[in-house]
Amino acid sequence: MQSLAFCLHLPVTRVAQFLKVNRKFIFGGKLPVCANRYRLVLPQNTLMSLEKGRKAPSDEELRKKLSSFEYHVLREGGTERAFTGEYWDCHKKGIYECRACGNPLFHSDTKYDSGSGWPSFFAPIEKDAVTTRTDTSHGMVRTEALCSVCGSHLGHVFPDGPTPTGLRYCMNSVCLKLKEE
Ligand SMILES: [Zn+2]
Repeated sequence: MQSLAFCLHLPVTRVAQFLKVNRKFIFGGKLPVCANRYRLVLPQNTLMSLEKGRKAPSDEELRKKLSSFEYHVLREGGTERAFTGEYWDCHKKGIYECRACGNPLFHSDTKYDSGSGWPSFFAPIEKDAVTTRTDTSHGMVRTEALCSVCGSHLGHVFPDGPTPTGLRYCMNSVCLKLKEE
C-alpha cells in the first residue's frame, strides 16, 4: 500500500477526481481506498496506472470501440477457439497491448510456441502489467489473467511454461493488439 498523493506529488483533489471517474473499473468497483483530506491509500496497481496516465475506458466507450466478439471475450470472460486467433502463429516483433485500453502487456521476445493454439508468453512486459485471480468457472480451478489497468479478461496462466518463469500466459488473440516494432 502506498500513499498516492505523496508518491505522485499530486494534490489530493486531483487524485480524488481520477478515482471518481475510474472507480468502477478498478478492482471491480471494490476499491479499497482510505481517504481523508491529506492522504489517499491505494494498492500498488492503481498507483502504476496513474503514473502512466492511463485511464480505464468506460463500458459505453468499450461497446462502441470493440466488436461484439471482442467485447464478449474481454468483458464477459469469453474464449476464442484454439488455432483461430490472429496471433497464435504470429512471429512479428513488437509489443502486445490490451485491445480494450492500450496498456502494454507482453513483448514478442517472451512469446513462444506452446502448441495450444493460443498466443503464449512466459512473462508479462512488466511485473504489474497483468493481474491474476482464481477462476473456478467450468468446474475447474484456474488462474485468470486480467489487464491491470482496465480489468479486462485476457486469458489464463498455467504452471507449465518454459524457463525462466515456468509460466504460460495463455492469451486470447482477440484481447491483444500487436504494436509492431
Ligand atoms: Zn486494458
